[in-house]
Amino acid sequence: MAVQRTFSIIKPDATKRNITGKIVSKLEEGGLRVVASKRIHMTEAQAGDFYAVHKERPFYQDLVNFMISGPVVVQVLEGEDAIAKNREIMGATNPADAAAGTIRAEFAESIEANSVHGSDGEDTAAEEIKFFFTDAEIVG
Ligand code: ADP
Ligand code: MG
Repeated sequence: MAVQRTFSIIKPDATKRNITGKIVSKLEEGGLRVVASKRIHMTEAQAGDFYAVHKERPFYQDLVNFMISGPVVVQVLEGEDAIAKNREIMGATNPADAAAGTIRAEFAESIEANSVHGSDGEDTAAEEIKFFFTDAEIVG
Protein backbone atom coordinates (compact mmCIF):
# COMPACT_ATOMS: atom_id res chain seq x y z
CA MET A 1 0.00 0.00 0.00
CA ALA A 2 1.13 3.48 -0.81
CA VAL A 3 1.50 6.49 1.46
CA GLN A 4 -1.80 8.37 1.45
CA ARG A 5 -3.30 11.51 2.94
CA THR A 6 -6.71 11.65 4.56
CA PHE A 7 -8.86 14.29 6.17
CA SER A 8 -9.86 14.20 9.84
CA ILE A 9 -11.99 16.35 12.15
CA ILE A 10 -11.94 16.33 15.94
CA LYS A 11 -15.59 17.19 16.60
CA PRO A 12 -17.12 19.68 19.09
CA ASP A 13 -17.95 17.03 21.73
CA ALA A 14 -14.22 16.30 21.97
CA THR A 15 -12.92 19.89 21.90
CA LYS A 16 -15.46 20.71 24.65
CA ARG A 17 -14.04 17.95 26.86
CA ASN A 18 -10.43 19.01 26.18
CA ILE A 19 -9.42 15.62 24.77
CA THR A 20 -7.94 16.69 21.41
CA GLY A 21 -4.48 15.58 22.58
CA LYS A 22 -5.74 12.15 23.58
CA ILE A 23 -7.31 11.74 20.14
CA VAL A 24 -4.20 12.88 18.29
CA SER A 25 -2.16 10.41 20.39
CA LYS A 26 -4.38 7.54 19.23
CA LEU A 27 -3.86 8.60 15.60
CA GLU A 28 -0.10 8.91 16.06
CA GLU A 29 0.17 5.61 17.93
CA GLY A 30 -1.69 4.01 15.01
CA GLY A 31 1.04 5.16 12.62
CA LEU A 32 -0.49 8.36 11.23
CA ARG A 33 1.27 11.72 11.11
CA VAL A 34 -0.50 15.09 11.41
CA VAL A 35 0.79 17.11 8.44
CA ALA A 36 -1.73 19.97 8.73
CA SER A 37 -3.92 21.13 11.60
CA LYS A 38 -6.04 24.10 12.60
CA ARG A 39 -8.69 24.83 15.20
CA ILE A 40 -11.70 26.57 13.67
CA HIS A 41 -15.34 27.28 14.40
CA MET A 42 -17.26 26.25 11.28
CA THR A 43 -20.02 28.44 9.91
CA GLU A 44 -23.41 26.90 9.24
CA ALA A 45 -22.78 27.22 5.49
CA GLN A 46 -19.44 25.43 5.76
CA ALA A 47 -20.85 22.56 7.83
CA GLY A 48 -23.85 22.30 5.51
CA ASP A 49 -21.63 22.10 2.42
CA PHE A 50 -19.21 19.70 4.05
CA TYR A 51 -22.02 17.27 4.90
CA ALA A 52 -24.05 17.92 1.71
CA VAL A 53 -23.82 14.21 0.89
CA HIS A 54 -26.13 13.59 3.88
CA LYS A 55 -28.66 16.31 2.94
CA GLU A 56 -31.53 13.85 2.53
CA ARG A 57 -30.84 11.99 5.78
CA PRO A 58 -33.18 12.72 8.73
CA PHE A 59 -30.24 13.66 10.98
CA TYR A 60 -28.73 16.24 8.58
CA GLN A 61 -29.83 19.50 10.28
CA ASP A 62 -29.05 18.13 13.75
CA LEU A 63 -25.62 17.10 12.50
CA VAL A 64 -24.95 20.57 11.07
CA ASN A 65 -26.10 22.18 14.34
CA PHE A 66 -23.84 19.84 16.30
CA MET A 67 -20.82 20.59 14.09
CA ILE A 68 -21.22 24.35 14.68
CA SER A 69 -21.93 24.00 18.42
CA GLY A 70 -18.26 24.57 19.25
CA PRO A 71 -14.75 24.60 17.81
CA VAL A 72 -13.36 21.69 15.82
CA VAL A 73 -9.83 20.70 14.84
CA VAL A 74 -9.48 19.98 11.12
CA GLN A 75 -6.39 18.03 10.14
CA VAL A 76 -4.64 16.19 7.35
CA LEU A 77 -3.18 12.80 8.29
CA GLU A 78 -0.48 11.03 6.33
CA GLY A 79 0.75 7.45 6.39
CA GLU A 80 0.69 4.01 4.77
CA ASP A 81 -2.89 3.22 3.80
CA ALA A 82 -3.95 6.31 5.77
CA ILE A 83 -7.59 6.40 4.67
CA ALA A 84 -8.46 2.89 5.86
CA LYS A 85 -6.11 3.08 8.83
CA ASN A 86 -7.77 6.25 10.11
CA ARG A 87 -11.22 4.63 9.80
CA GLU A 88 -9.91 1.62 11.73
CA ILE A 89 -8.48 3.77 14.53
CA MET A 90 -11.75 5.79 14.66
CA GLY A 91 -14.05 2.77 15.00
CA ALA A 92 -17.65 2.34 13.85
CA THR A 93 -19.97 5.37 13.49
CA ASN A 94 -22.11 4.20 16.41
CA PRO A 95 -19.88 3.93 19.49
CA ALA A 96 -22.03 1.01 20.66
CA ASP A 97 -20.66 -0.94 17.68
CA ALA A 98 -17.09 0.39 17.81
CA ALA A 99 -14.29 -2.09 18.54
CA ALA A 100 -12.52 -1.85 21.89
CA GLY A 101 -9.57 0.54 21.87
CA THR A 102 -10.90 2.68 19.02
CA ILE A 103 -11.39 6.44 19.45
CA ARG A 104 -15.16 6.17 19.24
CA ALA A 105 -15.34 3.24 21.69
CA GLU A 106 -13.27 5.19 24.20
CA PHE A 107 -14.47 8.74 23.73
CA ALA A 108 -17.70 9.11 21.69
CA GLU A 109 -20.83 10.26 23.53
CA SER A 110 -23.42 9.09 20.96
CA ILE A 111 -23.88 8.13 17.30
CA GLU A 112 -24.00 11.87 16.50
CA ALA A 113 -21.44 13.22 18.99
CA ASN A 114 -18.90 10.61 17.99
CA SER A 115 -15.71 12.67 18.44
CA VAL A 116 -14.12 12.29 15.00
CA HIS A 117 -14.69 12.44 11.25
CA GLY A 118 -12.55 10.58 8.71
CA SER A 119 -12.69 10.49 4.91
CA ASP A 120 -14.15 7.28 3.51
CA GLY A 121 -12.25 7.00 0.19
CA GLU A 122 -9.56 8.49 -2.05
CA ASP A 123 -11.91 10.91 -3.83
CA THR A 124 -13.55 12.20 -0.66
CA ALA A 125 -10.17 12.51 1.06
CA ALA A 126 -8.86 14.75 -1.75
CA GLU A 127 -12.06 16.83 -1.82
CA GLU A 128 -12.26 17.24 1.95
CA ILE A 129 -8.59 18.22 2.27
CA LYS A 130 -9.10 20.88 -0.41
CA PHE A 131 -12.26 22.12 1.32
CA PHE A 132 -10.24 23.25 4.38
CA PHE A 133 -6.55 23.52 3.41
CA THR A 134 -4.38 25.12 0.74
CA ASP A 135 -1.31 23.19 -0.45
CA ALA A 136 0.94 25.61 1.45
CA GLU A 137 -0.75 24.71 4.75
CA ILE A 138 0.16 21.04 4.43
CA VAL A 139 3.70 20.36 5.59
CA GLY A 140 4.72 16.71 5.51
P1 ADP B 1 -18.94 8.29 9.53
O1 ADP B 1 -18.63 9.58 10.25
O2 ADP B 1 -18.58 7.08 10.34
O3 ADP B 1 -18.35 8.24 8.14
P2 ADP B 1 -21.54 8.79 8.26
O4 ADP B 1 -20.77 9.37 7.11
O5 ADP B 1 -22.55 7.75 7.97
O6 ADP B 1 -20.55 8.20 9.38
O7 ADP B 1 -22.30 9.96 9.03
C1 ADP B 1 -21.68 11.22 9.21
C2 ADP B 1 -21.93 11.67 10.64
O8 ADP B 1 -23.34 11.88 10.82
C3 ADP B 1 -21.58 10.66 11.73
O9 ADP B 1 -20.20 10.65 12.05
C4 ADP B 1 -22.42 11.13 12.89
O10 ADP B 1 -21.87 12.30 13.51
C5 ADP B 1 -23.70 11.55 12.16
N1 ADP B 1 -24.67 10.45 12.10
C6 ADP B 1 -24.58 9.32 11.33
N2 ADP B 1 -25.64 8.52 11.51
C7 ADP B 1 -26.44 9.15 12.42
C8 ADP B 1 -27.70 8.85 13.03
N3 ADP B 1 -28.35 7.72 12.73
N4 ADP B 1 -28.21 9.74 13.91
C9 ADP B 1 -27.56 10.90 14.21
N5 ADP B 1 -26.37 11.25 13.66
C10 ADP B 1 -25.81 10.39 12.79
MG1 MG C 1 -18.81 9.43 6.50
